[in-house]
Amino acid sequence: MPVNNLAAVFLHYWVASHVFIGISSLRKIPIGSIFDTESREIEAAFRYAVIRFNKVDNDMFELDHIGDSVKVSDSFELSTAICSQLSKGVATIFGISNTSTSPTLHSYCDEFDMPFITTSLARNVTTPSSMVLHMRPIYARAILDVMRDMKWQIIQYVYDSEEGLIRLQQLFQELNSAEYRDLDVDVKKVTSAESVFASLKQIDLEDEKDHVNILLDLPIEKTEKLLHLMGNDQSINRGSFNFFIGGLGLLELNLTRYQNGGLNIIGYQMVDFSNLHVKVFLQHWEQFDPRNWPGAGSQKITYEAALAIDAVHLFTKTMHPILKMDGRMFRENTRYSLTNSGRNMGTKCMAHPVMPFGQGIHLKQAMREAKFEGLTGTVSFDEYGYRKNISLTLMELTMNRGMAKIGQWRGKLEKLKPQIWRQEKNDTRIQRITTILTEPYAMEHKAPFKDGKVPTGNDRYYGFCITLAEKVAKIVHMDYIIQVVKDGKYGKLLSNDTWNGMVGELIRHEADIVIAPLTITAIRETYIDFTKPFMSLGISIMVKRPEDQEPNVFSFMDPLSYEIWMCIIFAYIGVSVVLFLVSRFSPYEWHVDDESGISNDFTISNSLWFSLGAFMQQGCEISPRSISGRIVGSVWWFFTLIVISSYTANLAAFLTVERMSSPIESAEDLAKQTEIQYGIVKSGSTYDFFRHSKIALYQKMFAYMTSQNPSVFVSSEAEGVQKVKDSEGKYAFLLESTTNDYYNQRQPCDTIKVGSNLDSKGFGIATPIGSEMRDHLTLAVLELRENGELRRMTDYWWKEKGECKMFDTTLKRDSGQNSLTLGNVAGIFYILIGGLILAVFMVLTELLYKSKIDSKRMKTTFASALRSKTRLSFRGKQESETPHQHQSYSYTAPSQVISLDGYATENTHTQV
Ligand code: ASP
Repeated sequence: MPVNNLAAVFLHYWVASHVFIGISSLRKIPIGSIFDTESREIEAAFRYAVIRFNKVDNDMFELDHIGDSVKVSDSFELSTAICSQLSKGVATIFGISNTSTSPTLHSYCDEFDMPFITTSLARNVTTPSSMVLHMRPIYARAILDVMRDMKWQIIQYVYDSEEGLIRLQQLFQELNSAEYRDLDVDVKKVTSAESVFASLKQIDLEDEKDHVNILLDLPIEKTEKLLHLMGNDQSINRGSFNFFIGGLGLLELNLTRYQNGGLNIIGYQMVDFSNLHVKVFLQHWEQFDPRNWPGAGSQKITYEAALAIDAVHLFTKTMHPILKMDGRMFRENTRYSLTNSGRNMGTKCMAHPVMPFGQGIHLKQAMREAKFEGLTGTVSFDEYGYRKNISLTLMELTMNRGMAKIGQWRGKLEKLKPQIWRQEKNDTRIQRITTILTEPYAMEHKAPFKDGKVPTGNDRYYGFCITLAEKVAKIVHMDYIIQVVKDGKYGKLLSNDTWNGMVGELIRHEADIVIAPLTITAIRETYIDFTKPFMSLGISIMVKRPEDQEPNVFSFMDPLSYEIWMCIIFAYIGVSVVLFLVSRFSPYEWHVDDESGISNDFTISNSLWFSLGAFMQQGCEISPRSISGRIVGSVWWFFTLIVISSYTANLAAFLTVERMSSPIESAEDLAKQTEIQYGIVKSGSTYDFFRHSKIALYQKMFAYMTSQNPSVFVSSEAEGVQKVKDSEGKYAFLLESTTNDYYNQRQPCDTIKVGSNLDSKGFGIATPIGSEMRDHLTLAVLELRENGELRRMTDYWWKEKGECKMFDTTLKRDSGQNSLTLGNVAGIFYILIGGLILAVFMVLTELLYKSKIDSKRMKTTFASALRSKTRLSFRGKQESETPHQHQSYSYTAPSQVISLDGYATENTHTQV
């Protein structure tokens, strides 16, 4: 039929179906499928996708499924099925093929411009003009990338079919590239799982064999059978075989019984069951009866079935926009009916000349350019019709963790855990334990033991971590040898994606275990495994201990600040003056005195004396009589009461706590100054903490540290501590609190921890990724923690071994332990002595002054006046010693009558 006529027919039916027949009766687009009689699961999934589309998503068209089940290995059956489908006017054929018949199928499709979407193994032989779209990706590189990453050198490629040969061909093609230079593939074609097992057993018997790496390219049943044989045979050393499962559905294997069996299995999974899109699909898929829908009825789907479903979606998702945007474009040249009329304009295989499907190339092109998220990830194709932008999940069967995702392949391998390391559970090898020489965790005996023996082997070392290694080894029954990290570093990720230090040694398998003060960090955890922490800590600051201050003799003044003392003095003077004035002006303060007539007690000196007496909590025999004077007195007493109580309350604390002042008491203090330098250990977690910190303060500190020249970074804690000691308070060191505490307990006790910790974390025992030792070691650590052993060890190294008086490494001292020393209170003795001296000095002044006055008044010489006064003084003394003279002199002891006015009293005495 000429193309123009076709267009007319198409238009006719389109109009008929949409305008006259009505919207409800949708146009039906025939599609064909050719599946193998054996591949019932794929066929069921395909049917499911068609039915679901017709029921749920059919807003523009419905699919008219014409399916054939054939023996795809039979090319006659296959070509008959194709011709039959072509004659029925299908728009696209879906199906599978095998290696021998796929050329037949492809040539039919190319000949008749019929798009063919296949879920079978993709062979890289198609040309851009081919009508075939491959749902299954070519992933030889993905396999080789894993093997290269695991440093496999020799790979046994085990296969049983023609398909395996094609995959091998693809592997070899890739192996030619320089990237995989180190990989070598040995090929083995097998017939049954038993034969593979027999040859593996043979290998196992060989001496000095290394790990055997096997790429298994067998159907699921055979693979399961082989693993079953491996798992059941106790005589075979399973741990020395690594299996890479060749397909794209590792989770399709039933591996639950090997979970703890030490089988090393790795492989790819194409359908990501954790993907939301897949989860939604599976919820629906689970509800179907597996008797009618093979493969359905569970929360799982094989990747081949998923590919078939994605193939249907590819078609429908492509047709949709084509019909929506420009339905005519598709109709014009078509040769077959797309309506419900039943008329069929399909292609006849036998027709001469060949009449290809007019819209085939356009449709195939549109499908090739489609892109959507399917069950098998992003569905998109390159110009040859092969899947591109694929994403495969790399999974590994690990002891105790079951099947675990360990990486993702998206054109290149992105490992979550860069190294894969397996060990047999009952590994009897001697474990190489790496540690770092740092006090008090691991130290080296420098001299022979007391009995003259020279330390050898593990006896060369001692310390907290060495004891820990010993105890842990006893629990997990392992033999070990302690080695010291070669570069003396903890471990830092370098720019070329490698690690130095102890972490690097684990990754490079130069050590099996790290028992050291190695901090558990997120970045390290992605490269190595850690046990639960055996010690908790945080980054802290170490400074040089400030010189102990000489006790202040006037420390009794400390409870009140300088300002308060000044205010008290002014208040005292002020109150005395006010009292004086008030008493002067208040008539009630004046009274009649027997001797001196009208008098007022509150002279200025008496006012001062009254206020002083009140302040000192003493009394004095005068007191205000007027209300105003009493008001002044009351408020002063109240003031005194509060001040003295406050003073007393603070006094004890101030006298017993010796305050040391350090200019640095926190990280903030460090950051806001530049006079005191500060640094950290390079190549450690503290360095990483500052380098990756999002907190402005720490970023600022890190910027400061990196800008310093000479460098403030040190290569070990010991070096940092020495720097603190040597730089006379001009260098602060940021290190982990436990190590800080330890050094502060070392003679000469001249370092100290200040401030609180910057973070909180823990030290853990580390093992390479996937090492089964990790779980055993974790249990051992927990056991040691629970039975108090860890606590005892910590007490031993930190407290019992402490060399400084108190187990106190922070700046504030424990007040309870200090008693008052003379130094603290010497000031009050000084004041007492000063007062006494002042009194003697004053009495001399008084004597001289009075003698002078008297000499003038009595018109005698100064000397005779002085003599008479001195004699009086002595006589008074002598008198008091001779009782019979007592009556002649009524010398009044000052304590009995407080003198109000010195002169008056003295005058009285002289008169006597
Ligand atoms: N313990 C630390 C570490 O594991 C050392 C440090 O950086 O402070 O890296």
